[in-house]
Amino acid sequence: MSTNRTFTMIKPDAVANGHIGAIINDITAAGFKIIALKYTKLTDETAGKFYEIHKARPFYADLVSFMSSGPIVAAILEKDNAVEDFRTLIGATNPADAAEGTIRQKYAKSIDANAVHGSDSDENAAIEGDFFFTAAERF
Ligand code: GDP
Repeated sequence: MSTNRTFTMIKPDAVANGHIGAIINDITAAGFKIIALKYTKLTDETAGKFYEIHKARPFYADLVSFMSSGPIVAAILEKDNAVEDFRTLIGATNPADAAEGTIRQKYAKSIDANAVHGSDSDENAAIEGDFFFTAAERF
């Protein structure tokens, strides 16, 4: 059963390139409501924990070091069919393959520095949201 929440991060590349405002605007214009929002920075340790699911993949070390290289914006978003609709809004992992008008097509430069994270399942959306936000930080 699908739920109506997903989790996102605006990654260090998009933050450094000045795209926070534009990306949040694209997200809200697409009908997502912001439930929780935080501007913060991951450490090597917290990024490693967040991406533990990818530990066996060859790019894990690069991913962890990239995600802790600068500040990020974390958010919980709400909309019907949130996980799937958000994945459509952000586009393919590799911006070279991302559809016209998607966030990654507009703001990402490469498969690793790909501007945004979007949860890939309802289960992971809940786990990832809990990683960053307490109940009192959700509105
Ligand atoms: P996503 O769900 O579209 O974010 O993609 P994945 O779950 O497959 O990968 C997680 C993240 O790992 C991606 O968003 C990229 O930031 C990074 N990533 C994926 N593939 C590669 C790769 O081949 N090299 C590097 N350096 N990073 C990658």
